[in-house]
Amino acid sequence: MNSSQSKTLVVPPQSYKSIGTKSEKFLQDFYRQGLTTPCRIPILEIVNDWPEFEEQTGFQLVAEELPPGVLGRTDFVNNLITIPPETCVAAKNGDGRARFTIAHEVGHVWLHNVFFKGCILENRILTANRACMKTYEDPDWQAEAFASALLMPSTTMATAISNGLSIADMQMLFQVSYKAAIKRTEIMKKFT
Ligand SMILES: [Zn+2]
Repeated sequence: MNSSQSKTLVVPPQSYKSIGTKSEKFLQDFYRQGLTTPCRIPILEIVNDWPEFEEQTGFQLVAEELPPGVLGRTDFVNNLITIPPETCVAAKNGDGRARFTIAHEVGHVWLHNVFFKGCILENRILTANRACMKTYEDPDWQAEAFASALLMPSTTMATAISNGLSIADMQMLFQVSYKAAIKRTEIMKKFT
């Protein structure tokens, strides 16, 4: 079976704009200064070390091995985010891709928890053929957009872009990968 025929989960559609608003709410709740100062958003610390995240969302992070090719997992039944131990160590050491993986799973919690909890209660999961699904209904597309907006908020990215910062500068400042910084810059120029 190729990927275009595989079934995938569908969630209510969201735009870059609505996801951006939700990532800003996350920062208001957990790391307000990230909205005004271009900086490294301490995503691992927020989820793993600070009590507010679990108090508000009910979710905990566990460092456990996952099957090959699975970067992270969010379990809506047990309220767990699972991240492989080596990814947690890499994120602690400032690796942009590892930090993005954690932010992606946090995106599933922040954007999809209420929806999936409802699906579980009603024993109803919406799926579609990947080929038929609209991009905006793909939970992974939404989680990627959330991670990008969370680690590089539109407010501080706009400042970085207007100040003529290079992609390498942004990488250092926000502690993200080169690829993530380029993609976020493109989205900012296109949608804001
Ligand atoms: Zn995902």
